[in-house]
Amino acid sequence: RGAAASDTSGGGGDVKAHFVFIPLMFQGHLIPAVDTALLLATHGALASIVVTPSNAGRVRPAVDAAQKSGLPVRLLVLPLDLAAEGLPDGADDVDKVPPDLWTNYFRALARLAAPLERRLRSDSDGATPYPTCVVADFCHPWARELAANLGVPRLTFFSMCAFCLLCQHNVERFEAYAGVADDNELVVVPGLEKRFVVSRAQAPGFFRGTPGFEKFGDDVEEVLTQADGIVTNSFLEMEPEYVAGYAAARNMKVWTVGPVSLYHHRRAATTVAARGNTAAIAADECLRWLDGKEPSSVVYVSFGSIAHAAAKQAVELGLGLEASGHPFIWVVKNADQHSDDVREFLRELEARVAGRGLLIRGWAPQVLILSHAAVGGFVTHCGWNSTMEAVAAGLPVVAWPHFADQFLNAKFAVEVLGIGVDVGVTEPVIYRMDQKEIVVGREAVEEAVRSVMDGGEEGEERRRRARELASKARAAVEEGGSSHGNLLDLIKTFGVGAGCFATA
Ligand code: UDP
Repeated sequence: RGAAASDTSGGGGDVKAHFVFIPLMFQGHLIPAVDTALLLATHGALASIVVTPSNAGRVRPAVDAAQKSGLPVRLLVLPLDLAAEGLPDGADDVDKVPPDLWTNYFRALARLAAPLERRLRSDSDGATPYPTCVVADFCHPWARELAANLGVPRLTFFSMCAFCLLCQHNVERFEAYAGVADDNELVVVPGLEKRFVVSRAQAPGFFRGTPGFEKFGDDVEEVLTQADGIVTNSFLEMEPEYVAGYAAARNMKVWTVGPVSLYHHRRAATTVAARGNTAAIAADECLRWLDGKEPSSVVYVSFGSIAHAAAKQAVELGLGLEASGHPFIWVVKNADQHSDDVREFLRELEARVAGRGLLIRGWAPQVLILSHAAVGGFVTHCGWNSTMEAVAAGLPVVAWPHFADQFLNAKFAVEVLGIGVDVGVTEPVIYRMDQKEIVVGREAVEEAVRSVMDGGEEGEERRRRARELASKARAAVEEGGSSHGNLLDLIKTFGVGAGCFATA
């Protein structure tokens, strides 16, 4: 006891806390972790963010801009020992990890523990304060030992809604799938007041059913139960019963600090556009295109950083968007990997919808786009970040889940929040895994887009709920709001002199 607190005075100035963020190096995990770190830094906490070299480039613009504005934030760039795990060069970028080497990739991440500990100890010999808390993605069970070695508390980081966390927890805790042979059979999520049905295929549980990850899944669960609390990208007013329910089920405090993307609210367009990666379109070009459109007229279509549309799906989606008659921005992530035929289809489509449809091949400045007044709806895979960004922007969504937590998020958007239209997918499609082909046809795309974008009583009501939710989201992150208060509470609880340190 005490070593940490006294170390923090070694040149730390008036730093109130030092949070060490260890994100999972997937963009859907990294981006919200960086936003959360920046938010804590706005309240005077030092935030160190651990990244691998290929990911450092992606998040550096946001971190540099924050540093320039005086925020105490820094990147700790640590390479992965790829050779030790038989991973190819460049595989610290998850897009370059061959699917059969996923377990190796996670083992390579765990190897960060020792160099990271050394780095944190040697840093604090100089001007940098000793860490006061480790905030580790739930996918890093090795962070338990690291935090214990450092003698500091450890928080588990999620970018998920409490509804999803609680559903997932309850299906496991009450063994909802026991005796259910068919992965697609629907079962009722136990332990909730409202009735929701889900299948094992839609919500298998973290790392459950993934070959090679059986022990890892158990470790993740065990390490989570031993955390000093949970930080997640949600906000209390959106789902008070589920935040309380999850905290009670885990017997742990849950700090909701979102929507964390609102850190970027009213910041320079070029900085916002650079959030998470280099965008494939310049911020001003994108804004100019949107400026030329009527308010709430454009539908934005994107499936996040991982999902890649198969050839047939890309064609059906394009034709559905064209038939909807609405202006659209469609983010085609894997354009260069498509066949010549699909690429030709995309070029022809672009020519036919010139002026009305904008295709972004590669990374889109999503938060910049969603916050523009011309955007009126979002066709999303319901990755939690995208869903939260839709909420923050007050937009109704077409819910088109692909895998992981996305089916539960879609359920949350449609059945709990009432801001979504379900496109009708019931089974997962997992990128780069051999699976049966599931294609949403052009008619279904057109219908879902029309129902989310066109007026009508139901559509108006959905839009009204989305706007109301956005104003609650804004209030949550402003002074006096719940998320704002939780950030301050984190600093108070895990900051200098909080007295919650073990012996270093
Ligand atoms: N994103 C973006 N541009 C893109 C694709 C994704 O800015 O072209 C961001 C998006 O705003 C979100 C994150 O990347 O913050 C994706 O996370 P999400 O949970 O939505 O989905 P995942 O990528 O994990 O499937």
